[in-house]
Amino acid sequence: MEYSEIQKANMLVKVEFIKQNSVTTLNFSFKGTVGITCDRCTGDYDMPLEGKESMYLKHGEPDESTESLIVLPHGESEVDLTKYLNEFIIVALPSRRVPCELDKEKYKCDEETLKKLNDFAVEEEPEPPSDSNVWDELKKIKFNNN
Ligand SMILES: [Zn+2]
Repeated sequence: MEYSEIQKANMLVKVEFIKQNSVTTLNFSFKGTVGITCDRCTGDYDMPLEGKESMYLKHGEPDESTESLIVLPHGESEVDLTKYLNEFIIVALPSRRVPCELDKEKYKCDEETLKKLNDFAVEEEPEPPSDSNVWDELKKIKFNNN
């Protein structure tokens, strides 16, 4: 999807349709990898991800659709699940995305980029002179004036 946070993924998705009277339950399960950018080194990684979600589907007024209920107009027999799946994957992603923190053996942060990022980091302010020294200096001035 053009404006999605996810621009690359390799997922195996299973959707089970369970029809009960007028409502159909959709059970999603997905497993695969999602292309993410490391929060620490900005490197690109394929992060393993899996999850399960459920939704409901019925016919009626499409305006009545909610986050977990898809309402199709009467006579419509096709449903596009792209946006729901996109949402499920985004929700399943961890908020902090640093692959090497999850698996040090498998992922390594890009040390070269980390070094460059550190070079750009704002340098710490030099230590201000301690107060006692300032007071000592002031005392001297006063003493000399007397
Ligand atoms: Zn990294």
